[in-house]
Amino acid sequence: EASLQKEDSTTDLKEAKGFKGHDMLAPFTAGWQSSDLHPLVIEKSEGSYVYDSNGRKYLDSLAGLWCTALGGSEPRLVAAATAQLNTLPFYHSFWNRTTKPSLDLAKELLESFTANKMAKAFFTNSGSEANDTQVKLVWYYNNALGRPDKKKFIARSKSYHGSTLISASLSGLPALHHKFDLPAPFVLHTDCPHYWRYHLEGETEEEFSTRLANNLEELILKEGPETVAAFIAEPVMGAGGVILPPATYFEKIQAVVKKYDILFIADEVICAFGRLGSMYGCDKYNIKPDLVSLAKALSSAYAPIGAVLVSPKVSDVIYSQSNKLGTFSHGFTYSGHPVSCAVAIEALKIYKERNIVEKVRNIAPRFQDGIKAFSDSPIIGEIRGTGLILGTEFADNKSPNDPFPSEWGVGAYFGAQCEKHGMLVRVAGDNIMMSPPFIITPEEVDELITIYGKALKETEERVKELKSQ
Ligand code: PMP
Repeated sequence: EASLQKEDSTTDLKEAKGFKGHDMLAPFTAGWQSSDLHPLVIEKSEGSYVYDSNGRKYLDSLAGLWCTALGGSEPRLVAAATAQLNTLPFYHSFWNRTTKPSLDLAKELLESFTANKMAKAFFTNSGSEANDTQVKLVWYYNNALGRPDKKKFIARSKSYHGSTLISASLSGLPALHHKFDLPAPFVLHTDCPHYWRYHLEGETEEEFSTRLANNLEELILKEGPETVAAFIAEPVMGAGGVILPPATYFEKIQAVVKKYDILFIADEVICAFGRLGSMYGCDKYNIKPDLVSLAKALSSAYAPIGAVLVSPKVSDVIYSQSNKLGTFSHGFTYSGHPVSCAVAIEALKIYKERNIVEKVRNIAPRFQDGIKAFSDSPIIGEIRGTGLILGTEFADNKSPNDPFPSEWGVGAYFGAQCEKHGMLVRVAGDNIMMSPPFIITPEEVDELITIYGKALKETEERVKELKSQ
């Protein structure tokens, strides 16, 4: 229970009223939390803020779940959804029937992705479904090529790729596997590229990247390259703690993957559309993927939608062999849902019109420098981030080897203080994560930094107290 407590939401329980012991089996929530505690019920959103059922206002530093890129009250997205609902609330895309919004969105997405040529877009309802689709696509592709043994996937420790059976298997977080009989046996995990935590004494970032690329190659050779189908990576790891790739990492990893004819899948679910100050994470880190997963900011989360972008290398095989393969028997009732697609088209239009990538790039230093100014705090191990994504890891003595005792709940305490001062952050153990909406204003960034500073001071006091006991 103690370790679960640590992961507790930071709800100010005394103020929350009602809904205790509610009827929902809540995602990523412990059963005892739902039964014994009041949930924080969010009722309304406005720009970068959300309001709870008691009318309290919070700065939403995680943009929902890293997704409401245009904030919580963009009228154009509402209008796009409404117009589509009034014209055609639903039609599917099976059996060569489809709708105009899905065709238009596919075209827009393919044009927007320039790191590598992409030929086709497949629509899902979520990031998890996008990554499940990746596995099926890759298997289908290798079956079409007559390589039935080339089926294994390599993902990385601490990655997050979703929570369906397959996407949870790809994820490198033990909590997603524990008690679910996962990961599936075809998934292998290689090193997490977290330099601060895992570098050897005296090892430079470049040397660290070389070692990780060598480890990846060793794993491939041990398994047999003819059995390894694909490698999947987030450009910046999100839920695993905001972990940026060390210098030369993707260059070296891509060389290994290419050498053994292994497909590279970029999971851009968090990184895409401006989050890192580039349209895609692949642009920033010079990644040339064969397949791309998208979701979240694709519709700014106003309607559920995900997508897979498929390079000609993969789609050409599928199309050229379609006489032999027959129907591509994969899809969802809501693949290319016209309302979600209409919202996504409008979101992409707004990103373009408002130069959202440039806007993020302009405001990023205020956010990054403002928070990184707290790096000297005696309870902070590392602050890391780029663009509008940032992680704080608490540790003693600035060392990854000196975590605070988990029963102290340092991260949860910090999160609770933020909440008290009117800001919601993501807490995972002693990791704090933030990814504010792209529309955050300079004044709101300053408010975010002020609240962070207050909560940090209070957490420092708390740690001092705990140490003296
Ligand atoms: N991939 C990444 C990188 C993610 O961050 C997430 C969600 N946090 C997913 C996939 C899964 O997306 P969803 O929750 O929409 O299934």
